[in-house]
Amino acid sequence: MTKKILVLPGDGIGPEIVAEASKLLNALRQDHGLNVELEEAPVGGAGYDAAGKPLPDETLHLAKEADAILLGAVGGPRYDTLDWELRPERGLLGLRSELALFANLRPAILYPQLASASALKPEIVGGLDIMILRELTGGAYFGKPRGIHTRDDGTREGFNTIRYDEYEIERIARSGFEIAMKRGKRLCSVDKANVLEVSQLWREVVEQVARDFPRVELSHMYVDNAAMQLVRAPKQFDVIVTENMFGDILSDAAAMLTGSIGMLPSASLDAAGKGMYEPIHGSAPDIAGQGVANPLATILSVSMMLRYTLNEPTLADLVDAAVSKVLDQGLRTPDIWTEGCQKVGTAQ
Ligand code: ATP
Ligand code: MG
Repeated sequence: MTKKILVLPGDGIGPEIVAEASKLLNALRQDHGLNVELEEAPVGGAGYDAAGKPLPDETLHLAKEADAILLGAVGGPRYDTLDWELRPERGLLGLRSELALFANLRPAILYPQLASASALKPEIVGGLDIMILRELTGGAYFGKPRGIHTRDDGTREGFNTIRYDEYEIERIARSGFEIAMKRGKRLCSVDKANVLEVSQLWREVVEQVARDFPRVELSHMYVDNAAMQLVRAPKQFDVIVTENMFGDILSDAAAMLTGSIGMLPSASLDAAGKGMYEPIHGSAPDIAGQGVANPLATILSVSMMLRYTLNEPTLADLVDAAVSKVLDQGLRTPDIWTEGCQKVGTAQ
């Protein structure tokens, strides 16, 4: 059956990088029998320009109908003075919550060709290929009660609640095991079970889900230790699964192990495996329209789409190999350029 892909170029460098990824999808369709149809819609600032809001009704409708979404990036200085509800970023948050995209996957892969760009020594980080799975719709970011309270004497307290329902832990844990099954079959669940009750429940539920995945080797780690281990010996990990805030922090730390922001893709999935795929970087208004943006994070997002939503792991491998080959050939956008390489851009 033909799968529908909704393409949302967005703002800034979004249209440039998504154009390259669309070329790739069309080539996979023509040359490798990938059965997809592409449709395009405005979101973010482009949504505001076209329909007066960052997530136009028609775009949301198409997003709900699509099997997968490819997003460029949203935002730009032109929209900075708009009311909060009309800001481009609201379009993105609206999509995440409307589509219940609770599982955020962020791979951290170091391409050997870019090893000198890493924050760590080659012997520690060489060959790095880990996946961080962050719970995206629960925890402290959404938990209630929350607020800043002024007492009668004028002193104040701020408070948030880290809350997880069993079913929320179950579904993210299940995703973690499923992803581990497709990779190195090792899953590390990160929590703070020595201090937090919510983490104790987290650990219990993860253990329960583990019974359905006897082939995956499960370990648990406290988040403070995980932060240290990511920097000390990152290659010990295969898949890390963790709650929203721990995942936010750990995935940014892991991203720095790999060099350029222009190389890092991400996926946000719902319970049925439908997903939104996007580079982790933003709309980069400082370089928009110059044809110098690195399209590889978006191209690698297509690879994730092939792997996690379209069930085409062979084609995903093909895309990954093509990226590696381009780097082998010494072709580099300016963000990853080093002496001796050839500078390329996207405007041709
Ligand atoms: P946002 O709030 O949307 O995340 P930001 O301003 O925080 O945006 P980015 O838009 O990601 O961050 O830009 C950060 C820096 O990285 C900028 O200097 C930008 O030019 C650069 N950059 C981001 N993406 C790319 C890319 N694909 N290729 C080259 N450089 C990039
Ligand atoms: Mg940013």
